[in-house]
Amino acid sequence: MASADGKLEAIGMSTQAAARIAEIRPIRARVGKRNQLLVKITTEDGLFGWGESGMSSREGSVAATIEHFSDFLLGQDSRQIGRIWQECYRGQYFEGGRVLTAAISAIDIALYDLLGKRLGVPVYQLLGGRQREFVPSFATTMARDLPQLKEDARTLIDMGWDCIRTYPGSFDDSTVFEPHKTLARTAEELIAVREEIGPDVQLGVDLHHRYSVPEVAYFCALLPRGTLNFLEEPIRCESPEAYHTLRNMTEIPFAIGEEFASKWQAAPYIEQGLTQFMRLDVCNVGGFTEAMKIAGWCERHYVDLMPHNPLGPVCTAATVHLGAAVPNFSWAETRQSPVEKLGFHDPRIFPKQVEMEGPVYRVSDAPGLGVEVNEDVIAEQEFTHLEGPHLTRPDGSVTNW
Ligand SMILES: [Mg+2]
Repeated sequence: MASADGKLEAIGMSTQAAARIAEIRPIRARVGKRNQLLVKITTEDGLFGWGESGMSSREGSVAATIEHFSDFLLGQDSRQIGRIWQECYRGQYFEGGRVLTAAISAIDIALYDLLGKRLGVPVYQLLGGRQREFVPSFATTMARDLPQLKEDARTLIDMGWDCIRTYPGSFDDSTVFEPHKTLARTAEELIAVREEIGPDVQLGVDLHHRYSVPEVAYFCALLPRGTLNFLEEPIRCESPEAYHTLRNMTEIPFAIGEEFASKWQAAPYIEQGLTQFMRLDVCNVGGFTEAMKIAGWCERHYVDLMPHNPLGPVCTAATVHLGAAVPNFSWAETRQSPVEKLGFHDPRIFPKQVEMEGPVYRVSDAPGLGVEVNEDVIAEQEFTHLEGPHLTRPDGSVTNW
């Protein structure tokens, strides 16, 4: 850093002054079928870092929170990442909450990107270095009928994937959701897919937390042993007690955690054996700072990370750096497989991003996250809010999306 310091001195700036936060800008972008909330943090010397929030469809709330945080973050030393995390979390009387930690996540990731660029090292080096050559992924098929489901599974396996996640084929575009109509059909489809793919490929299903405890217990009872390697988010995660009840009603491993907004929310699931895979989302849980703590806690309980990674290239890069740096890791979620066309990684907006080779992510050695954003393309967009579906039961009562 001697030469960099020399340059800074020449323009009358100390290293600390150069690293001060000069601007924090939330940027809402339409990328493919969804919106992404990015944050760009720039320091006095003109370096900048990118972060992303994972709170899809509530981008405006998170952007407003980032603006609140900017009031006291401007002028701070961007390298004090852990301290900044604490100040954002503890700097108000009302602690926690998903919107706050989604905003903290975006800021934390951007600060890591910045620090990596400042030091000329990839983010994984800042997290303790690399534990693996590449980061494996699982792919998703959203097929809604059995022939398509089998075809997608075959395509993915032929390309090297060894872990596939499905959605219930009976989840359609209707805003009316009748859980009892979906369970038996989904179980039948999964049994047929397992028969098709054999025992060596890992198979999971995401129930998108739409069901109740007895509904999930019934669903699990329909599946012969060995059908599923994991069951993702069968019920909502507000109640560890409800998960405790469900955990005692089936032996299928659970994959839970994409909704967690802190280590405190994750704690009972890890400590009480309620989840067997940790689905944390680095863009929601509190960035690298919080994700690394949860990863350590999971390691102590022999739980592997299976990170949620449903949106853009900044989230993907953060997930891959995290996955490279932790010992306890299974698969990162990818939404870039050949059986999905979501457009979330549009190269016009993200000319540089983490690369996939078949089913694995190559870990970038570029400084920071290794992602570039074309702000001009985003500026040309007219941003429109996208509201998630509001589902009802046939009787008109509101139910979970
Ligand atoms: Mg999920």
